[in-house]
Amino acid sequence: MKKVLVANRGEIALRVMRSLREMGIATVAVYSDADRLAPFVRYADEAVRIGPPPSSESYLRGDEIIRIAKELGAEGIHPGYGFLSENAGFAKMVREAGITFIGPGEEAIETMGSKLAAKAAVKAYNIPMVPGVEDAITDVAEARKIAAEIGFPILIKASAGGGGKGMRIVESIDEFESQMDRAVSEAVSAFGDGAVFIEKYIGSPRHIEIQVLADQHGNVVHLFERECSIQRRHQKVVEEAPSAVLTPELRAKMGESACDVARACNYHGAGTVEFLVDEHLNYYFLEMNTRLQVEHPVSELITGIDLVKEQVHIARGEKLSFGQDDLKINGHALEIRVYAEDPANNFLPDIGTLHGYRKPEGPGIRVDDGFEEGMEIPIYYDPMIAKLIVYAENREAAIEKMKRAIADYQISGVATTLGFCSFVMDHEAFRSGKFDTHFVQTYFTPDVLNVSKPHEEEAAVLMAALLRNESSASIQTTADQPIAVSNWRKNRS
Ligand code: ADP
Repeated sequence: MKKVLVANRGEIALRVMRSLREMGIATVAVYSDADRLAPFVRYADEAVRIGPPPSSESYLRGDEIIRIAKELGAEGIHPGYGFLSENAGFAKMVREAGITFIGPGEEAIETMGSKLAAKAAVKAYNIPMVPGVEDAITDVAEARKIAAEIGFPILIKASAGGGGKGMRIVESIDEFESQMDRAVSEAVSAFGDGAVFIEKYIGSPRHIEIQVLADQHGNVVHLFERECSIQRRHQKVVEEAPSAVLTPELRAKMGESACDVARACNYHGAGTVEFLVDEHLNYYFLEMNTRLQVEHPVSELITGIDLVKEQVHIARGEKLSFGQDDLKINGHALEIRVYAEDPANNFLPDIGTLHGYRKPEGPGIRVDDGFEEGMEIPIYYDPMIAKLIVYAENREAAIEKMKRAIADYQISGVATTLGFCSFVMDHEAFRSGKFDTHFVQTYFTPDVLNVSKPHEEEAAVLMAALLRNESSASIQTTADQPIAVSNWRKNRS
């Protein structure tokens, strides 16, 4: 493989291209008009415009992307995360065009893209699941009975859901039917698939996921866990590896379960198996993400493995060059997502111009970003400015390093999640490791940041603009979680 097209934008396009360049592989960027001046476009050996800013006319134009790849002689396509990365139809089209899709086979993408199909696929293996139903609900009265047996609260989930969207908590049996109706109609409008199922609502869950790598010769290994329990709107904002709570025994067990999930769908490539862990350290399979994850760098730092290079080796049909016993955890890594969002205003996007932008530096600090000073954060895409990742010998040292790095990070022109992340680093619950996915609801109020709250109307205007600009997939999932959903966001986690 001498030339690869990266079908993505921003930090992940740049991060993928860096590894490709180290492997002596030429890079092709595709970009929308909104990204004409972006660093990833300049970094690529060749760059081709695909279309206007909306994703549906640019980064989701699989046909156009494949045409460009063929025209420029790219032998592989790396999809990054989001956009077309979990689109089985795209993976198939790439393969049929004689180009290597740097990711799993389309069957694995398809199976794991549906939460219900995923549960069915792993059934033959002994993998713990959240108590609930195994099929889409067709008989509401029957489902109501099962919900009563499981015990409230329960969660109604869209089988095709993703990115924290398409979930409803039902507190009591009286609201079951009305919530079911709403869940189904939301699932239809958001994902084009009304299949929903119910799961026990785990009261104090931690989100812990396992990174796996599988080659095309049946070898599967795991690269340990990432703890991603600090979330807002069911979306991650702080991640770390390893988790503060897993014992070596539990880690090995969850790792083996994750490898089994990969085996269950004949997986090859890099993938992530997500679990919920309850307060008694019971773990339950949630879903598998069949792509590189936003938070993959923390696993790279503690294992010394470049996941993008491994994806390329696997896509070329090479065998994994290491086994499970060769992998060890060294030190501790933390990642924060620096979003152009206003934590003081319900984490709503705060799009604008990066008037000032200076990154932190020094040993153990990695910044994966896609912007420079003076650039606009486009309204069309995910408002993530950067990922700030730190690495140190242990968790405490990593937290101190992260605090220093956040303090050194200078961003002006837009509100960011930096101050919020600093609050997390200082919080006793985070420092002691005793926290769950409710951290934000439990401990965070805007006044802890000591910033003034922007006018509600401004936020409303911004939200309206966002919704207008998004593709037809834009929806509002629940009344209490007003956030635009679009294809770029759908499968991000
Ligand atoms: P998505 O595909 O939208 O990311 P997931 O199934 O991975 O959905 O769940 C996302 C988040 O939602 C989890 O990290 C967790 O915080 C919460 N969640 C999901 N299922 C449950 C459950 N059964 N009980 C409690 N929380 C849950």
